[in-house]
Amino acid sequence: MGKHTGPLCRLCRAEGTKLFLKGKRCLTDKCGLERRSYPPGNRGKRVSFKKSNYKVQLREKQKVKRFYGVGEKQFRNFFSRAAHKKGITGENLLRSLELRLDNVLYRMNFAYSRAHARQLIRHGHIQVNEKKVSIPSYILRLEDEVSFREKALQNENIKTMLEDVKGLVEIPEWLMVESEKYVGKVNSIPTRDDVSIPVEEHLIVELYSK
Ligand code: SF4
Repeated sequence: MGKHTGPLCRLCRAEGTKLFLKGKRCLTDKCGLERRSYPPGNRGKRVSFKKSNYKVQLREKQKVKRFYGVGEKQFRNFFSRAAHKKGITGENLLRSLELRLDNVLYRMNFAYSRAHARQLIRHGHIQVNEKKVSIPSYILRLEDEVSFREKALQNENIKTMLEDVKGLVEIPEWLMVESEKYVGKVNSIPTRDDVSIPVEEHLIVELYSK
């Protein structure tokens, strides 16, 4: 499946859950899912089809991919690495998605959304342990420190954004943030309970294990 270029709220409506793709708007009553909580395309009529196992598994995978903003090929790579690690594959997968730099930046309240975080990273505004990192899928490790590059902190647009985004989302306990300095740290490795999207990851494992 290629990159989605249509209205983002349709994705949430298709999955029946908030994917938080539009920054501040997602937290207001203007949220597309709050206003129209039915799937796109059937004009409000609730049509119930019996879903095959495959369809249920596929929807679960699509939901996670869209939530984290990961393409199919990259998601498969994440899955394959998760399957080769010790422990439960589904949990390994979610943990590494949580530890992506774009997700961490968003969860630290340093960007409006994960997509916005990806833009900031690609534009070279972000550093990890004081070294520039321009890869949004970069996986952070314990004790890694995330911050803005000095030049970025002099940029008026970024300064305004950082003020505006303060307190947007609740910062999880596994991250430690010094919001005045715009620096954050991976304090501990996220657990399954730290994943905020409702997901049955075993369905994704079943899908890829066919
Ligand atoms: Fe999804 Fe609501 Fe945000 Fe639209 S506004 S992207 S429906 S969470």
